[in-house]
Amino acid sequence: MAINTTISEVPIRERRLKALTGYSGSVKDLAARTSPGCSITNRERSFSQTSSCSSGCAQTLLSGILDAAVVNHAPVGCLGDSLYQNIAHHYGQFHRGWAYSNVNMVSTNMGESDTVFGGADRLRDGIREAYRRFSPKAIFVTTSCASGIIGDDVQGIIDELKGEIPIPVVPVHCEGFRTKVWATGFDAAFHAILGSIVKPPQRKNPERINIINFRGSARVYITELFGRIGLKPVFVVPFATVAELEGMSEAAATLTICGTLGSYLGTALEEKYGVPYVKSSPPHGSVGMDSWLTGLGRAVGKELEIEQLIRTEKQAVQGELAQIRARLSGITAVLGMGPGFSLSYLRVLDELGIKVLYGASWHYDQQYDHGAQPAITTEMALRDEDIPFSIGEQQNYEIANLLNELKPDLYFSRHPGSSVWAAKQGIVTVPVMDEYTAFGYHGLVNFGWRIVDALANRRFVTNLSRRVRLPYQDWWFEQNPYHFLAEEEAA
Ligand code: SF4
Repeated sequence: MAINTTISEVPIRERRLKALTGYSGSVKDLAARTSPGCSITNRERSFSQTSSCSSGCAQTLLSGILDAAVVNHAPVGCLGDSLYQNIAHHYGQFHRGWAYSNVNMVSTNMGESDTVFGGADRLRDGIREAYRRFSPKAIFVTTSCASGIIGDDVQGIIDELKGEIPIPVVPVHCEGFRTKVWATGFDAAFHAILGSIVKPPQRKNPERINIINFRGSARVYITELFGRIGLKPVFVVPFATVAELEGMSEAAATLTICGTLGSYLGTALEEKYGVPYVKSSPPHGSVGMDSWLTGLGRAVGKELEIEQLIRTEKQAVQGELAQIRARLSGITAVLGMGPGFSLSYLRVLDELGIKVLYGASWHYDQQYDHGAQPAITTEMALRDEDIPFSIGEQQNYEIANLLNELKPDLYFSRHPGSSVWAAKQGIVTVPVMDEYTAFGYHGLVNFGWRIVDALANRRFVTNLSRRVRLPYQDWWFEQNPYHFLAEEEAA
């Protein structure tokens, strides 16, 4: 077994999955050099812009659990991300037609003296306050650089409160300084859930399919689609209850909307409880959806039913897809996204007839937790055409340089911090914020029309670029975008 859920901290992705944050080359080169038996080393940067933190990813998942609460043992600034988490929570509520409510989070608000004398009292108070305020079924205590560096005994304090707080209180080790790969925070959250919330199966449920996702905007469609073949999706982790998480071990299979997100949880459920994890490429676009559904069919023994489902769904969009391709033919694009989406969206854009000039990924896992190269990498490397590709933890200065050089018609980004700058450079920008954008056959068509619409109105970005002064000097635009990326060291 590769995953050990009994240890206190999940090993970071750089060690566990040989994750890279510095690379410049191409899709085929990356695929070849990260294949079994080959080697590649990370290229460090001598200059780096602000990036994200793994606690944000952990809290994005945990704050969405409907009847749980999060105590962030940190200075209050570390909870700045909660603004985004609250907006994302409202987004999920909007899609369910629910009244808006805020996420259940508190900060222990560590100050200077706590970093000298320890923050134990603040943590005790924070846990008590979260229990009093939210009456949750579980509390997750997320750590930070400050509580990690001074070595507060989080587990010890939780143990002290056992008689007083009669629910699971679970430490989540997601200090930002441990890793450059913010997706390690997903693993930290899942590690906590696997170790303290998920229960051994009472009975197997042959209908239940775990779907690892974020806010689940496509859940009505998926529920209807799976219902046609006798399956019932349960969407985790945000918008699930603690009881739903306890029962993940009883499912017939686990699917994920994104391999980067689901690798740890899916693999652990398979290894520990025998729940098959579908290791297909992500369900973006038509080809991705074929792979996702076929993998599901194989996992639950419903290959024929799935084949029929694919045929029906695909047929329904062929006419519109042809129209969109005609409209987008000759359009060029650059994209920058997390690794679960970047390679997959190269294929989505290809399906829409868009020529991708360059792809950037915010990190890259050389292998997933099940031990193999991501399926999408292997598949993309088999295509005739190679695509220039880089890896960097959302270094916007590199992307700005690239866009200035390549001048594409479109920039696609899965992080708004990056899309804003492209728009200021006068490039039509399509942010891919919802994880179900371009989901399957119908999602591909909807996404295609959204791009057609975006291209029809270039005036906004043109005006914006005329009025905004970028923070870069001409000197930077004359350099290679990867000027600050060191040469690769010998393995
Ligand atoms: S945990 Fe560390 S990296 Fe993350 S927000 Fe707090 S100080 Fe910054």
